[in-house]
Amino acid sequence: MNVEVLLAKEMGFCFGVKRAVRLLEEAARDGPVDSLGSVVHNPQVVARLQERGVRVVASPEEVRAPTVAIPSHGAGPGVADRLAEGRRVVDTTCPIVRRAQQAAARLREEGFYVVVFGESDHPEVRAVLAWAQGQGLATTDPFGLPRPLPRWLGVIPQTTQHLASFANFVRDLMSLPDGKGKAAPCPYSELRVVTNVLCQATQQRQQSAQDLARQSDVVIVVGGYNSANTRRLAELCSPLVETHHVQTAAEIDPRWLQGQRRVGVTAGASTPEGSVEEVVELLRKRLENG
Ligand code: SF4
Repeated sequence: MNVEVLLAKEMGFCFGVKRAVRLLEEAARDGPVDSLGSVVHNPQVVARLQERGVRVVASPEEVRAPTVAIPSHGAGPGVADRLAEGRRVVDTTCPIVRRAQQAAARLREEGFYVVVFGESDHPEVRAVLAWAQGQGLATTDPFGLPRPLPRWLGVIPQTTQHLASFANFVRDLMSLPDGKGKAAPCPYSELRVVTNVLCQATQQRQQSAQDLARQSDVVIVVGGYNSANTRRLAELCSPLVETHHVQTAAEIDPRWLQGQRRVGVTAGASTPEGSVEEVVELLRKRLENG
């Protein structure tokens, strides 16, 4: 039987992750670095940086190294200034995440209640909300909004959200009952939707993953379990084809490949090329050996 491994057109490291890793590697050449949380959500990348002297710490209080890094997911307002007391700060916040933070701060200043469409426990989302200074929340459920509904509502998507899901969320927000039992065309005086923070690299990877899923009998998604964008790739492929999310090649179960003719491989934006190569190599070997 003719068996092939198909690769997604767009996958792996995005420019924001490449930039963060480069900044950290450069900083680590001058001495130890403490990173306030994982610089990116991938255990292999974190381990490789650790070998070069980058230690992950959970809070500013744990920082000991002369250099401290803010991860690509960003941090709340004032964190960099507080850390800078007596230290060098390397800020690897992705420029798109920074744009989301600035949007949250601007909306807050203009009196809007900020809703971040995303995972409330994700570091990027927590940091964006911190820029709204308590005037907001994170949710993916339109019914999660406070009552009475805020009159001025600003909506920001987590950078890695899928465009169609975000559009559905906004549509649902517009048709929420206003709480007075009246059917209003829109329950807000003003609804401001921030769209220029949906990451293009993520959208391309999502589209490529769906295209791949349509051509494959089974899809393997490679990347950190704690990586939101990698999990989203698996979520998007799952309704289309049998899908498995793995962190390493060793996790691939031979039973997933039995009787399959086309095995698709894609990877999250924080997945290093080496991890994808290991998966592809292992798949080719297993498929050749039947
Ligand atoms: S996925 Fe997009 S938003 Fe996230 S780090 Fe990469 S470029 Fe930045």
